[in-house]
Amino acid sequence: MDLPGRLRKRLASHPLDADARRPISGRGLEVKLTTFFLVFGVLFTGCNTIDHRNPPPDDFPKDLRIVVHRPGVLGFVGVRECDGAIGGCTIADFCSEVCRIYLQLDLKWIEDHERSHCAGWDHSRESHMRDQWENYKLMDGPAFCMLRRGDAQ
Ligand SMILES: [Zn+2]
Repeated sequence: MDLPGRLRKRLASHPLDADARRPISGRGLEVKLTTFFLVFGVLFTGCNTIDHRNPPPDDFPKDLRIVVHRPGVLGFVGVRECDGAIGGCTIADFCSEVCRIYLQLDLKWIEDHERSHCAGWDHSRESHMRDQWENYKLMDGPAFCMLRRGDAQ
């Protein structure tokens, strides 16, 4: 199995996914699974690499507590918010200042990728983390959190 040239070229410029660039030549299950999910993920979820040319907003929280949910014996972690995600997904909660990472496979490169999302980085041509943060501010963050807790008058 060989990665298409365009995909290989794209990965070559991505430091977070360095492990995925290793050729598949009997180097173990992790490399094969990494490649499978990378290709599968790119093809079927539109998930791609972090865009290092487009940094997070300056005021994006830098102290979110990261909680990693690892897959169980059966592999996949099922959470509704991750429907359609392949490999892993990230859910930031600015009210509780927690960023939850759900891994469908316990692979370091996937966790590193999701940790980048917790730090506010987005994929190329996407702005999910940026939009979540901007929406939170538009809703007057702390007031929104009080409403959510039921503390509002
Ligand atoms: Zn991602």
